[in-house]
Amino acid sequence: MSHENETSGGAGVAAEIAGRLGQVRARIAAAAARAARDPGDVTLVAISKTQPDERIAAALAAGQRVFGENRVQEAETHWAARRDAFDDLELHLVGPLQTNKVREAVALFDVIQSLDRLKLAEHLAREFDRAGTPRRCFIQVNTGEEPQKAGVLPAEADAFIAACRALELPVEGLMCIPPADEPAPPHFVLLGEIAARNGLAQLSMGMSADFEAATELGATHVRVGTGVFGPRDA
Ligand SMILES: *Cc1c(COP(=O)(O)O)cnc(C)c1O
Repeated sequence: MSHENETSGGAGVAAEIAGRLGQVRARIAAAAARAARDPGDVTLVAISKTQPDERIAAALAAGQRVFGENRVQEAETHWAARRDAFDDLELHLVGPLQTNKVREAVALFDVIQSLDRLKLAEHLAREFDRAGTPRRCFIQVNTGEEPQKAGVLPAEADAFIAACRALELPVEGLMCIPPADEPAPPHFVLLGEIAARNGLAQLSMGMSADFEAATELGATHVRVGTGVFGPRDA
């Protein structure tokens, strides 16, 4: 591998990000061990939204290959050119997807974690067909039933999962973002219950503040931003 241009950022930044990644991975491994889980079953999705390019380059240099973004446009500036340089890169969309951005999103991302409504499901199904590149999907569940938050309501989840399957979308799992002002574990438990009764194996849950609890409660994907990259508006 030769990615010299990706490692030329400040040595301080490279060491800082490598150190942060090592710590997050160690904490995931420790949490997995407490729950008698294999740490290899937990994927660290490094959320690179709003991060300067130098810090993303440092994460790549440290070996991180799975990244998440919450905006299609910004993700293109971070990742379009890197798609070809790193063939083992895996990009997850974790933010809301407008139907008029579906084509761009399917072109860039490997995984769509924010599938949350029938209209979007229909657009995705059509685009997967047209492009010939189906993408792995996670259905976002609004476990806290917050009016301002995306995601299907828990009571509507079973029917929505069935509707997505009827459209032959490759639905692999569920994703949630618990309310900021509540303990997260009950939301992780609820997400796990909905997934289990629908035969879905993947759970995307846990962020910088609670990825260890999420790991102990069965997360297969933890989405860690500031824990990996440092504060966003620094
Ligand atoms: C920003 C973001 C994260 C990461 O949040 P941190 O607290 O920085 O770890 C995770 N998931 C989603 C959907 C996000 O938008």
